[in-house]
Amino acid sequence: MSAHASFLTDRLLLSIVRDDGAFANVQRVCLAGCNRLTDSAVCRLLDVCGENLECLELSDCTLISTSTIEHAARVCRSRKDGKSCLVFLDLAGCSNVDTLDALRLTETNFEALREIRLMGTSRLNGRVPQDEFVELARELEARRARWRDGIGRRREDAVRRAEADDSPGTDVGNTVTAEDMMNMIDPSASCIDCACGDASRGEEIEPWILEGRENVPAWVTTCCIQPALCVVDLPKRVKHWKTKLDIWEEGTAPIAACDHAMVMQGNMNDPGHQHQLNLLPGCGHVLCVDCEQRSRVHMVRRHLDNEYVYPCPLCGMDMPNPGGFEITLNP
Ligand SMILES: [Zn+2]
Ligand SMILES: [Zn+2]
Repeated sequence: MSAHASFLTDRLLLSIVRDDGAFANVQRVCLAGCNRLTDSAVCRLLDVCGENLECLELSDCTLISTSTIEHAARVCRSRKDGKSCLVFLDLAGCSNVDTLDALRLTETNFEALREIRLMGTSRLNGRVPQDEFVELARELEARRARWRDGIGRRREDAVRRAEADDSPGTDVGNTVTAEDMMNMIDPSASCIDCACGDASRGEEIEPWILEGRENVPAWVTTCCIQPALCVVDLPKRVKHWKTKLDIWEEGTAPIAACDHAMVMQGNMNDPGHQHQLNLLPGCGHVLCVDCEQRSRVHMVRRHLDNEYVYPCPLCGMDMPNPGGFEITLNP
């Protein structure tokens, strides 16, 4: 449907959705860019085609809210075993979907889900209050720890099994081959059949799994140790932004990009200070809304590029586009 995104309204969508069972065979729904659709029409569509749905693309459906994901969690279930068939969920740019709720809902409700895209959802869109961003960063860290525990347990089990089989005295830790490593990890709990070989996907590789082991195929290290669910881009970026935030909180590094931010960092005196400060996630510099606005007049258009970029007044690195993701610091 995304080819008709510009004029696809609720009414138009509802007029083609029938409850005659034919939609139950639908496996892929692409509504990318359909920014006129609301929850009610998309939920109605999911009602009739949720059963076998494997791929749901809702990127840039800006009117869609978290309730559509809640609804999908209820109705995207197979009649046979009650499990969800959904493998791929794209919510990138859905600014009304709460990032945290989407993460939690997908972790518990979609058993088959392998990939979810969440960049540009509510906690990573526009000016996000510091507390909301920190809550998201904490949840991602907790999720990562849960995943690590699972991998760690499976690895210990495998090592125990190997020790029971092998002759005594074999040092399992240093003689593990790539093949052993494959066997060590429970295929049902990791994406062993994926073999995508794309090192840029998902979370970063845990250092322990590569220690002392050479010639491990790239796809083993990128895929087999991943959580069943691949949260594209999110963990790494959020971690990066959280680091910038921590630097500001420590108050030691000179990252204030305007005089008003310097007051907050304690380098100047201004008792009447009333400025709303934002952290630019990319470079980590902090400046007030007024100074940010003023510095945006120095926009530049790079060679052969149609879009303007806005250099940070302190370091020259690109600021987010107007309305883009920034973290509003606690007053
Ligand atoms: Zn300022
Ligand atoms: Zn900067």
